[in-house]
Amino acid sequence: MRKKLIAANWKMNGGLVANRDLTQAILKGVPENASSVVLCVPFPYLAQVGAMLQGSSIALGAQNSSEYGSGAYTGEVEAGMLVELGCSYVILGHSERRVLFGETDDQVAAKVVKALAAGLRPIVCVGESELERAGGKTKEVVERQLEAVLDVMPDVGRASLIVAYEPVWAIGTGRSASPEDAQEVHLHIRGLLQRRFGTDARGVPLLYGGSVKPANASALFAKPDIDGGLIGGASLVAGDFLAICAAGDLMN
Ligand code: PEP
Repeated sequence: MRKKLIAANWKMNGGLVANRDLTQAILKGVPENASSVVLCVPFPYLAQVGAMLQGSSIALGAQNSSEYGSGAYTGEVEAGMLVELGCSYVILGHSERRVLFGETDDQVAAKVVKALAAGLRPIVCVGESELERAGGKTKEVVERQLEAVLDVMPDVGRASLIVAYEPVWAIGTGRSASPEDAQEVHLHIRGLLQRRFGTDARGVPLLYGGSVKPANASALFAKPDIDGGLIGGASLVAGDFLAICAAGDLMN
């Protein structure tokens, strides 16, 4: 099995003490040469966690960045600022941002362009709601969300792009997609990328996210087009996160 890419999404959780303890425990458990673990932490803690990760194999990521360059955009965070703080990844278009904060496909696409220009690897989240799945619209929704990005992304970005398929109904609910259902959507995404990128599509990591836990990680990661996971709730518990990393074959 190929080594998987495992990205933690801490969401709006943490604090100085909790972050220190969690990061220390993860650093202790992940081998020095792992090279495919990412911690995406809240903006205010990037410097703290970044300092702890220095010299380790674990990368730092953020959970959002602006579609604008620096300027009069109160409350926004520019992609270049994240790079300065040591980030190499950024989650963009998470369903919580789309649903709770009204981010549109075009906005997500513009953010991806800025992130790539700054040198970040964007983890672009796509996924259908429960209603859309029930209406048989899963592939259509995922395609629309991803095409918006691919339409404006520069060609050179394909080497940096990461896609996370995250069915909205599976996020934080304890109801993961079955490995078979997730694989079916991943294969569809791979095909879409193949039409755009040709053989380069193979190199785009496709992560699955939505209630990945130690108990279901191995079965999900065994699927040929699931290249890793975006982990929310379970990434806040060191033991669970490390067990998921182990399921992704990152521990040796
Ligand atoms: C997420 O927020 O990206 C996520 C997948 O959350 P959870 O693992 O808690 O479902």
